[in-house]
Amino acid sequence: MTVYRLMSWMNSGSYQKSETEVQRLVKEVLQPNDFDIKHLEGFSVKRSLRELDRDEGGEKITFPDDWIETSVTIDIPTRSKEEGSKAYTIAGFHYRPIIEVIRAAFADAQANAFHLLPFKRLWKDPLDNHQERIFDELYTSDAWLDAQDDLQKLPKEPGCSLERIIAGLMFFSDATHLANFGTAKAWPLYLYFGNLTKYARSLPHSGACHLVAFLPSLPDGVKDVLSGLSRISKTGMASLQTHCRRELFQGCWEVLLDEDFLQAYRHGIVLKCADGVLRRVFPRIFTYSADYPEKVLIATMKDMGTCPCPRCLTPKSLFSSLGLSKDMKNRAASLRAYAMANVVKARDYIYKWGNTVDGSKVEDTLGEGSWVPTLNQFVKKLGPLGLDSFRMLVVDFMHECELGTWKSLFTHLIRLLYALPQGSQLVATLDHRFRQVPTFGNGVIRKFANNTSEMKRLAARDFEDILQCSIPVFEGLFPADHDAVVQSLLYRFAQWHALAKLRMHSDSTVIFLQDAFKKLSRRLRKFQRDTCATFTTIELPREKAARLRRLARGSENTSSTESSGPRVKKFNLNTYKFHAMGDYVRTIKLFGTTDSFTTQMGELAHRALKAFYPLTSKLNTPGQLAKHERRRRVLRRVAEIGGVISGFDSHSPTDVPPSVSSRNHHHIATTQSNPINLFAFLREHGGDPAVKDHFLYRLRKLDITYCDHTFTDEEHNSVIIPNNVIYSVQTMQVNYTTYDLRREYDTISPRTHADVMVLSGETTPSHPYWYARILGIYHVETWLNDGGSPVKQHLEFLFVRWLAPLQTHMSGIKHARLPKVAFVEEVDPDAFGFLDPMQVIRGVHLIPAFASGRGASSLRYGESLGRPGGQLDDWEEYYIGIFVDRDMFMRYTHFGVGHPVMLRRMTRDCLDSATTHAMDTVEDSDHEEVSDSEGHEECDDESSDEGLEDEDEDDSADEGEEDGEDDDMFDDLSF
Ligand SMILES: [Zn+2]
Repeated sequence: MTVYRLMSWMNSGSYQKSETEVQRLVKEVLQPNDFDIKHLEGFSVKRSLRELDRDEGGEKITFPDDWIETSVTIDIPTRSKEEGSKAYTIAGFHYRPIIEVIRAAFADAQANAFHLLPFKRLWKDPLDNHQERIFDELYTSDAWLDAQDDLQKLPKEPGCSLERIIAGLMFFSDATHLANFGTAKAWPLYLYFGNLTKYARSLPHSGACHLVAFLPSLPDGVKDVLSGLSRISKTGMASLQTHCRRELFQGCWEVLLDEDFLQAYRHGIVLKCADGVLRRVFPRIFTYSADYPEKVLIATMKDMGTCPCPRCLTPKSLFSSLGLSKDMKNRAASLRAYAMANVVKARDYIYKWGNTVDGSKVEDTLGEGSWVPTLNQFVKKLGPLGLDSFRMLVVDFMHECELGTWKSLFTHLIRLLYALPQGSQLVATLDHRFRQVPTFGNGVIRKFANNTSEMKRLAARDFEDILQCSIPVFEGLFPADHDAVVQSLLYRFAQWHALAKLRMHSDSTVIFLQDAFKKLSRRLRKFQRDTCATFTTIELPREKAARLRRLARGSENTSSTESSGPRVKKFNLNTYKFHAMGDYVRTIKLFGTTDSFTTQMGELAHRALKAFYPLTSKLNTPGQLAKHERRRRVLRRVAEIGGVISGFDSHSPTDVPPSVSSRNHHHIATTQSNPINLFAFLREHGGDPAVKDHFLYRLRKLDITYCDHTFTDEEHNSVIIPNNVIYSVQTMQVNYTTYDLRREYDTISPRTHADVMVLSGETTPSHPYWYARILGIYHVETWLNDGGSPVKQHLEFLFVRWLAPLQTHMSGIKHARLPKVAFVEEVDPDAFGFLDPMQVIRGVHLIPAFASGRGASSLRYGESLGRPGGQLDDWEEYYIGIFVDRDMFMRYTHFGVGHPVMLRRMTRDCLDSATTHAMDTVEDSDHEEVSDSEGHEECDDESSDEGLEDEDEDDSADEGEEDGEDDDMFDDLSF
């Protein structure tokens, strides 16, 4: 009856009750031992919620970190000396005192996992016993180590001998839409503790994200006030409004950085840590992640001014020398330093003398640096306490690269295609190719269903997918000389992207990243100078449509010169986003890897807010969201007291099948639902005796896998397969340790993800891996009759079609080309074979080499077991998608800390042989470019730098980098 009632409840009333939710109701509410029906007598949802929200007096639970609602008052300058400024109050600023959030976090069960002291992670490479520094977490970063050092140097608090530790604060703020439709917006400020590992912080349900405030936007009502000011012109209005927005933002931070917080910054607060020990905890702000428009607000600087970088004072005019040593030196030498006196003076001009907020008087006073006349509260309050308010504005991988520089490069490549003869055809080819790129992993590469060139509703991860697959897709679409340039550029971009996004860096990979940036920036400049300049590029159809829509909306405001004809669009390298790509090495060394502070983490936190949003009445949204946040927090605390939660939220989703131990190399189900008669099977595969040979070989515990071996009749007869039946299964799961020491798995299936990599079986290979397409996954019970009593053994094996690396194709980091493979021809006895699942390293992403077309040169035309899916021919060649994920990329270098030594040695040795090999073959398509003007440009740059560089910075070596011959230190570090 209970089950009946439950099911009929589920299938009636509201249809919002999902299967998982009902399952949860049973498992988490009804089944636990402490469930007591008597407690529900007189139960009312309304009253319980009220109790949670402490609307009723009496035994309410209150916390010091509860939400406070306040207002922020800004001064609107009137341009009139007599009137002075007009005070304008913005109500509805909801926040929680930061210091109380810190106290609460240290009292939370999660604090068990807090790192209280920073440390240096060192790794001794078993390959050659040299030692490397590892960069990953905030608590292993230089910034924290330095901050801890500084802390020890502070005079002790009188009479206090407690250990002094740091609460590592990482802020995120990002305005977001709350629903897919409508205008509802929120501007949450999140706080994470760097004391907790980034792997836990990045889990959406880990409870590691602390919602601290809802920053208010400037209400539309301010316009009424502004338009009432007689002395303000129409253009002055816009800048005045911008000024008000800045004042409001900094005004909020003036509230947030309250006296309690400053007191704690100076003297620490005594807190009981999870181990029960009292310590003096000092808050320290390390990072503040935000997109560019918010960075500009935080840094109190102009949006896209002459000095657009929030971290340094490099003028925009120097951005064109991106990646050159003068650029790298310049940004290090001109880090932002706040000119407090100038700002105070400029404000006097505005507020005391009636100057306009962007008038020449104010501009002249502010001087260089694109500063604005708004007081920076971080500098004012925390500057004297040692905070570098500009260094904390870390690079933003998602907005600045994936949705920034990469998107703009991809967009321009499509504009270029349109500019070629038959451009629309080429773009259609591009879209067609994207649609044929196979998927990979569990959503790692997803299907490109729509026309990729139209870029409709694409998120950062879609642009990442595009980058990771773009090399084969673009191949051959441009005229040969430009094609080579574009291929190298795409390779360099993907390589930089992979390195910049690594979740674990070492000394070597940091240098590698530095070098990759140098190469990429050179490629970008060359692309802009040679390829882009050759063609007249105009806006894309979608850009034009968007512009015309804008035009139609504001038609009365636009001048008559605005035409409906296409606009010329040029590739622009001189932007902050490209400039920011040069700051990754410094940032990673200071604060750890980019996944620790990526704005993507904030995006995940948004999801929780968006889930709350439908529960609100849509009025006073921040207030209601704050209330829901509090309810969740209170329930969490009640649960903690009751011992239901320990450490981490037990509900965090886990997508690893629970039945499988990830410690095993792989898992193949033992189901017998799909039996195959061996005789029929043998007949089907040409009566290939390899089946029996293979089994026998393995039973004898001999090392097999790849080599041929012929057995005697006697040996054949010693294997007994009962009933001559083997069993076929659909999938196999391969577990592996990633470069950053995580356990991951790939699901291999002959139908969807069939391609795998194994270590090369050659003794001195030129490429470290072999590749195979899995046609079938089988297991079987066998008896080995070795003269004595028969021994039973369970066997698993894969039936595969082999692919071989193309010897004529130059690939690798040196050549900026992906490795290329083709199916082994059917006449070769090794075209097909059996593979021990133990040999599989990982699944691999094979992307068709579209430019080489389809054909039947490796297997005769027609249906075959070698071509699942009923295809009649194959792609003639494939590229290996080495950029498909970070772990894959690291397997083509020998830097993967978590990778087996044998594999790393093989990769390194291949590289060595590739280097020697490449010495003889420097000649290639781009050779003439060695003498191009870029070299001279860089030579000029160097000579003005007084020639202090050491050899590998020398441009005579630099200018050699074209497609075939990067001749520098990195040749012997990476494959
Ligand atoms: Zn900069």
